Amino acid sequence: MEPSVTAGVEKPAGKKAPLMTVEEAIGLVTAGAKALGVEQVPVALADGRVLAQDLPARRTQPPADMSAMDGYAVRGGDIAQTPARLAVIGESAAGRPFTGSVGPGQAVRIFTGAVVPEGADTVVIQENISRDGDTITTTAPTAALRNVRKKGCDFTAGTPGLFAGRRLTGRDIMLAAAMDHAFLPVARRPRVAVLQTGDELVLPGQGTGQDSEIVVSNAFGLATLARRAGAEVTDLGLVRDDLPAIRAVVAQALSGEFDLVISSGGASVGDHDLMAPALRAEGVELFVHKIALRPGKPLMFGGKGGVRVLGLPGNPVSSHVCAMVFLVPLLRALQGDARPGPVTAPARLAVAVPANDVRRDFMRARMDRHADGSVHVTPCGSQDSAMLSVLAGADCLLIRPPFAPAATAGDPCEIIPFDD
Ligand code: AMP
Ligand code: MG
Repeated sequence: MEPSVTAGVEKPAGKKAPLMTVEEAIGLVTAGAKALGVEQVPVALADGRVLAQDLPARRTQPPADMSAMDGYAVRGGDIAQTPARLAVIGESAAGRPFTGSVGPGQAVRIFTGAVVPEGADTVVIQENISRDGDTITTTAPTAALRNVRKKGCDFTAGTPGLFAGRRLTGRDIMLAAAMDHAFLPVARRPRVAVLQTGDELVLPGQGTGQDSEIVVSNAFGLATLARRAGAEVTDLGLVRDDLPAIRAVVAQALSGEFDLVISSGGASVGDHDLMAPALRAEGVELFVHKIALRPGKPLMFGGKGGVRVLGLPGNPVSSHVCAMVFLVPLLRALQGDARPGPVTAPARLAVAVPANDVRRDFMRARMDRHADGSVHVTPCGSQDSAMLSVLAGADCLLIRPPFAPAATAGDPCEIIPFDD
């Protein structure tokens, strides 16, 4: 079993096995990961999906020179002097253009989003006009060409406006829709199976109240992270610490229905840690590595055929942090995401922190935004890798790089904000 890492508790002295760096491990876990396929989804359902191909505009925007304001469309040369008097010859409203042409000394009443009529190149806002019947007089100067959105200033037909590998935001989806795409080509969702092992585990509400029972939590966090990273998640339930039982579930998980199998627990080298033997017995080519990170450390990954396997630690905080560091980037890479992460952000320490050892530390922490916009981070009091109350109370992970020297309040640092 992985020892729970509690600040101030001595770690057991043991043989120093070489640790793999977090960067190396992310590289190995995501090696060769690419989009699993392409599907067309309605633009309204594309939130968070990863674009599979460059997306060219299907039309030009604006499709013609258009007014940015309510006012009068004129020829810029006609209003060089103030006051200038012009004859109003018609109206252009959004969706109802003026079909004639604006000649010298003429103006067309125009509204925001309306096509600027032929001959005109400038819009004088209505606040700078006095009107008497069909005659207008300018009351303040307007520079020629003002208040007109030129044809194609936003995007032009045939030019890509969004690129393959982009994880689509609501703003991207607005652009895609405006570019006249009803459907978007996106990477298909990775299909993920989660299984949890442990004789002590019971489902919420289903325990018998014995002290030896632990109510499972890991799969709920893993499923949330995986879904938010774009995956479809199937919970394969709880498996006892029994080799044939684990093998049976593993065999089912590897049968081709899933792209990725995530296991939680049983990943260390204790007598009851049967995950690696079960996976190997089912033909998974498996790598078990001690990773230089805290919380976490033992991590398994590998695969069989086209199915990948990621074995996460059982301690709930370790499970969740390792999922943020390894699982989320893997799932994003499996959708062709150009920025698989983990995505970090700069911040400042709110308090002093001691020097770090060989392991990259992902400390549960809280952010405090100051009036100048800077973010100041305080690590939570307990960094125990089993304490869910601390995990739930945190709003970011404070990253302490390996061998980072002691640091004081105000020093720059990096965080991974929780995406909740
Ligand atoms: P293991 O990795 O199986 O040695 O488990 C390490 C610790 O994590 C033990 O205290 C387990 O009870 C706990 N644990 C394992 N799996 C889960 C789970 N799915 N949900 C909550 N706690 C778990
Ligand atoms: Mg266990």
